[in-house]
Amino acid sequence: MNAKRADDLEKVPGYRWHANGQSAFSGELLGLYQRLDRLFFGWAREYDAAEYAFPTFIPARELDKVDYFRSFPHLATFPVALDGSEENLRAFAGRGPLSAEGNVRLTAPAPIRDVITPAACYHFYVQFQGETLTAPRVVTTRATCCRRESHYLPLQRQWIFSMREIVCLGTADEVKEFLTACQERVDRFFKRVHLPVQWNAATDPFFNPSRNPKYLLQQLDPVKTEMVFQDLAIGSVNFHRNYFGEAFDIQRAGKEAFSGCVAFGIERWIFALLTHFGPDRADWPDLN
Ligand code: ATP
Ligand code: ZN
Ligand code: MG
Repeated sequence: MNAKRADDLEKVPGYRWHANGQSAFSGELLGLYQRLDRLFFGWAREYDAAEYAFPTFIPARELDKVDYFRSFPHLATFPVALDGSEENLRAFAGRGPLSAEGNVRLTAPAPIRDVITPAACYHFYVQFQGETLTAPRVVTTRATCCRRESHYLPLQRQWIFSMREIVCLGTADEVKEFLTACQERVDRFFKRVHLPVQWNAATDPFFNPSRNPKYLLQQLDPVKTEMVFQDLAIGSVNFHRNYFGEAFDIQRAGKEAFSGCVAFGIERWIFALLTHFGPDRADWPDLN
């Protein structure tokens, strides 16, 4: 099967692509989605990671602490609501809320103070803000993430997608040790099931990269390693140095905490498995 084509994927039972960059799952594919997330969660539990469930929005003020909006303005999606005044709502309802193309014809919006989660791990730095850690901390969450992209492709590049992350906060050595061990763990899985995945150094998708000192720094000293299936990153291992510890005042061993995360894009894993093993469950590897 050439799963790159949306119409091939449409034939996989339990899959439905929505052209606005979203996927719906049922049946065997939903089972696959759930087993993949359980697989990642099982790896998190090998580090005694506590699981968290976070809300959908992050206050814009919090992400601004890491300069998110200057680094990734192209990815951000904001929740918009109408200004609640009677007059404004009346104007909206009265004028024909949609254009012929289906565009919402907004009247005055209420102030926007939030952003829809762009990556799962940001929630942890906000959550642990101001804390002093007495030991390294490993945590995990699955988040529905939202990134505006230049184009969308079923499972491969979505507006809304699912990310499971395992995150470690600690000293530089504690975090590096965690990331190395976790990468080895995931690599053992790829070898066991014979999924051809390569580990490649990468950089974050900065806006205007050549003018961003953070991008230039990442090029000199790679801190991001991707799990690449064909030319698609199905996950990444990221070393943030003490960037979040500093921005959110998280302390460890008398200094700003270091952090790192291992991120899995669940839809992209499904894409990789369907492309490599085909659409029949009987041919999928054992994920337990
Ligand atoms: P890419 O370079 O392919 O856009 P990225 O570097 O932006 O990926 P990360 O920020 O490392 O990705 O996000 C972690 C993981 O989330 C990725 O490895 C991928 O599996 C998944 N992911 C990222 N963006 C998308 C998207 N738009 N649709 C589906 N999955 C995504
Ligand atoms: Zn992360
Ligand atoms: Mg990338």
